Amino acid sequence: KLHNEVQELKGNIRVYCRVRPLLKGEDNQDCDLPITFDSNCDKNIQIHHSNTNDDGCRRTTSEKYDFTFDKVFNPTSAQEDIFLEISQLVQSALDGYNVCIFAYGQTGSGKTYTMEGCVDHNSGSNNARAGMIPRTVNQIFTSASALSSKGWKYDIEASFLEIYNETVRDLLEDNHKKKENIKYEIKLTKSSNGVNHVAVTNAKIVKVESERQVYDLLKVASRHRATAATKCNEYSSRSHSVFRLNLIGSNSLTGQNCEGTLNLVDLAGSERINVSGATGDRLNEAKNINKSLSTLSKVILSLANKDSHIPYRNSKLTYLLQNSLGGNSKTLMFVNISPSIHCFHESLSSLRFATKVS
Ligand code: ADP
Ligand code: MG
Repeated sequence: KLHNEVQELKGNIRVYCRVRPLLKGEDNQDCDLPITFDSNCDKNIQIHHSNTNDDGCRRTTSEKYDFTFDKVFNPTSAQEDIFLEISQLVQSALDGYNVCIFAYGQTGSGKTYTMEGCVDHNSGSNNARAGMIPRTVNQIFTSASALSSKGWKYDIEASFLEIYNETVRDLLEDNHKKKENIKYEIKLTKSSNGVNHVAVTNAKIVKVESERQVYDLLKVASRHRATAATKCNEYSSRSHSVFRLNLIGSNSLTGQNCEGTLNLVDLAGSERINVSGATGDRLNEAKNINKSLSTLSKVILSLANKDSHIPYRNSKLTYLLQNSLGGNSKTLMFVNISPSIHCFHESLSSLRFATKVS
């Protein structure tokens, strides 16, 4: 703890549930919203559903499930409200912690809105709809510069990778177009001061001096993702993206050093774990997504159980994040939920997944 008090984690990881608003054109077919919030406690959420089975004798069955998380954000929560609840965690990366923030949920539930926001890379974090990534970038640069009065100087490095079908790609490199033969391999290395690193061969790590420079990188990444999406319009639901900032600090007055990492991860759509009916490439993709999301939960659970073996290597995602899960690290997961009645079953399974890891 160098600069601030960081609240201790109680469970395995912190889990925040965020329910997005109904979108224009979306309706619940005259049904009530399948989700109820607890007006007395922002940690509780209930999801419910009734079915009328017209099987000769009309029968109505109803299902009702309660969940508790570290925080529940209802559809009126603004990006700013949500960032307030993660800013301490972001700050701890400047103290040398490794931080992972995930967005989990079905496609369309608001993962990318939460992480990136409604993208306008020119306005950076200065936009009500800016997500956690630009707000994090803003806070890191602001805090790093404030800490310079205490002798701290930070080298800040950014990278932006994507995992698609258990293959790592570099979103900062134009590998979706011409350089498809570049191989990105995940390797464990040790830096000169003995700190373990997960390195990805050939992947760009850009030393960044200003917020603006990071927003320009985000622009490059979203262009590369858009290129991939024109080849396959469901592309974003099938890949995990990992935006990473390395924060290497040294203090000229005290001689202290610290090295922290922030990872902001937009996970593949959780509905993809359902392999039923899929064949060929789709089946293979579904299996890989299933493997990475289930390995992620296994890793989180084995860390909490203090197991001697943590199955990091069972998926590219957990291998890449090996240093930022467990040990000197802090993890938060957003479980993003759609309020639509049509999404009831997927929402229920997302809430169950999130409960399992929390
Ligand atoms: P995902 O990345 O999980 O597939 P998106 O983030 O793309 O989902 O969200 C789906 C749609 O809902 C987008 O049009 C997005 O702008 C909108 N949306 C998501 N969350 C919110 C929110 N909290 N407020 C307003 N619109 C939202
Ligand atoms: Mg998305």
